[in-house]
Amino acid sequence: MTTVAGVERGTQPTPDGARSVALHVRSIRKSFANQEVLRGIDLDVHEGEFLTLLGPSGSGKTTLLRIIAGFESHDSGEMRLQGNDISRLSPAQRDLGMVFQQYALFPHMTVADNVAYGLKMRRWDSAKLRARVEQMLEMVGLPHLADRKPRQLSGGQQQRVALARALAYEPKLLLMDEPLGALDKNLRLQMEEELRRVHRQLGTTVIYVTHDQEEALALSDRIAVMQEGRFAGLDTPTALYQRPPSTFVARFFSNAN
Ligand code: ADP
Repeated sequence: MTTVAGVERGTQPTPDGARSVALHVRSIRKSFANQEVLRGIDLDVHEGEFLTLLGPSGSGKTTLLRIIAGFESHDSGEMRLQGNDISRLSPAQRDLGMVFQQYALFPHMTVADNVAYGLKMRRWDSAKLRARVEQMLEMVGLPHLADRKPRQLSGGQQQRVALARALAYEPKLLLMDEPLGALDKNLRLQMEEELRRVHRQLGTTVIYVTHDQEEALALSDRIAVMQEGRFAGLDTPTALYQRPPSTFVARFFSNAN
């Protein structure tokens, strides 16, 4: 692994060929009342990496994601996105894409307007905007549904639109919190494939939250296994599965089926 001190722009490979760091997190701590839910999180997410936070309910995954997104403050620690301190920036200023359950599509807008929403601040002319929206809807396989309202779509289609909306303005980092949680098994497998394809195509840096081991194994370049506000393991799926660093991790993966 390369050291990352002084990286300002994260898009270039480091001299030894490793990918540079997109998000740098050090010693993040967070308590609610007197319960410490994050106990010193250290994490480097590399450019283009698909990193998953995996762990049981209550282990702190969503809290960490919400802190990175800017919806929640942290008590101490440091966070840099492509070299820049983002701790004091509002969620909108952080230049992130988000696919959260609470971040639903706007019901009164068409699919196309939902996807265009995040592009408003770009001040593109309408032809360019339309072309971009079409391109994103094609990428998620829904160009024919541009004029529908969200309620006229299935759950899986709505998730695809949410993904297209999040990716339309090429965020530096895409955060996804259990995006497939509400879908049935078949649809989930289909959406996993879709996510893999989109990720390969765009190379977006992703942090993905799930409690589903199989989903994490299928999607991730690396997995951080969370246990009571700490990482119990952080490695590639193969390494974690074959050489679990603790009994907690081993037990967690052995329950995968
Ligand atoms: P996970 O995403 O792994 O299920 P969370 O990050 O949602 O875990 O929650 C971690 C712990 O923090 C849980 O015990 C939860 O009850 C607590 N928690 C989360 N958000 C709040 C909040 N706003 N106020 C108080 N406690 C919270």
